Amino acid sequence: MQIWDIEPHLLCNFHLQEQHDNIHALIHLLSQDVIYPPHPEVNRWKQKLSLLKEMHDLTAIELSRRGRSHESSIYLNQISQNEHSFQDIFVSTIEEQIILLKEFSCPCFT
Ligand SMILES: [Zn+2]
Ligand SMILES: [Zn+2]
Repeated sequence: MQIWDIEPHLLCNFHLQEQHDNIHALIHLLSQDVIYPPHPEVNRWKQKLSLLKEMHDLTAIELSRRGRSHESSIYLNQISQNEHSFQDIFVSTIEEQIILLKEFSCPCFT
C-alpha cells in the first residue's frame, strides 16, 4: 500500500481510485484501538488523521470532477490531542514517487 504525496489531479484514474481506497483503508485502521501492523505508511500517518481526511476529501473531489460517484464520506470520531497538521515523514521522496508513477503503464505524468 502506498499513499502518494502528489496532488490528486496529477494522478491517472487508476491511481486516483487506488489512492482513495487506500486512504479509506488507512483511516479505518488508524481509527481503531488496536496494535497497528508495522507498515511504513501506517507509521507515518499515525496522529495525522485530520490530514489524511483532508487528502481523502481532495481525492474525492477529483473523483467527482472526473464523473466518478463518491458516496463514502469520512467522519472522524476520535481525533488525538497530538494531531500533526502536516506530513514530515516520507517513505520515498516526491521525486522518487514521480519516477515510480512514470514506470507504471498508466497516464500518470505522461
Ligand atoms: Zn471516500
Ligand atoms: Zn497512474
